[in-house]
Amino acid sequence: MTDEKLKWNYEEFDEVLEEIKDEGYETVGLQGPDGIKPKVIEYASKLKEHGIEPVIIGASTFGACGVADKEAERMGAEALIHIGHTRFLHPEGQEMDDMNVYYLPYREERDIMAVLEENYGEIGEDEKLGLVGVTQYMDRADRAREFLENKGYEVVEGTTGLRTTEPGQVLGCDAGAAHNISHKVDAFVFLGSGHFHPSQVSEAGKKVYVVDPYQETIWIEPPNSLGDEMRAEYARVLKYKDEEKWGIVTSSKKGQNYMRAVQISKEILERHGKDVYVFVEDRIFESDYKGFGINIYVNCACPRMTKDWRDMAFVSPKALEMLDEAEES
Ligand code: SF4
Repeated sequence: MTDEKLKWNYEEFDEVLEEIKDEGYETVGLQGPDGIKPKVIEYASKLKEHGIEPVIIGASTFGACGVADKEAERMGAEALIHIGHTRFLHPEGQEMDDMNVYYLPYREERDIMAVLEENYGEIGEDEKLGLVGVTQYMDRADRAREFLENKGYEVVEGTTGLRTTEPGQVLGCDAGAAHNISHKVDAFVFLGSGHFHPSQVSEAGKKVYVVDPYQETIWIEPPNSLGDEMRAEYARVLKYKDEEKWGIVTSSKKGQNYMRAVQISKEILERHGKDVYVFVEDRIFESDYKGFGINIYVNCACPRMTKDWRDMAFVSPKALEMLDEAEES
């Protein structure tokens, strides 16, 4: 990892506070995801104790893709503390323009090491393991690696991904940390919970042992478990392939504004004779796309956002390749 990538990630609030005091900032924005709202208030209160005026971004954020520096600036803030996530790199190389944003990833206190130590027997005979996880637990990645190595496993550390700044760190939209090492490993060990991130890791083609501090056990995500979602998208494109009007949706959130994907999708659709309309909004809601008389939309924002939507047909830009196949057959 380069220093440039690391520069804006901090481990402790007090480090950020010292920097803010050194810079002489008088008003500072605070932003965080739903799960840690009490922390946002705690940090705002600490800023006040030090004579710094906090301004809180009310809308929750799912990732540092939605960094709200412009909203903070509009309120007179000279800097923003983005809590809960590490710095996000734009996959299309757009400037995130985050000069005065301090990223303070949230580290979850649940005892993930106890879960690993008590359940590592589930990991079986796989000898070479890739170690990845969500940022909430990556502060314990070194301990997890040492533990597994002491138990006789060879552990390959994850790299940084296309959008991430911590080695081994996985996002719902970026399992590059796993893909980059998948040729070297038999399976992955994932530090975290839920299917959202492990399913992304499984696309690297190997099974994923999920060390889950919520279920307090290790369970297995099978290889390529997102395959069904992709098949469902292909089926949606086939169903609507004769529609004349198509929509393309992107977000005004900095890290979810994928203009290159919009352009490419538009070109593909127009090549197929479609009448294409481009939409933009901040946080995208399925219900906003009812009533336009358009039955199918291409999602060029957060790639995971529309996966569970059932009322309207949303597909990824990749699924448009089905139009070519349909034409050829
Ligand atoms: S999965 Fe979506 S919300 Fe999460 S970091 Fe990626 S773009 Fe942002």
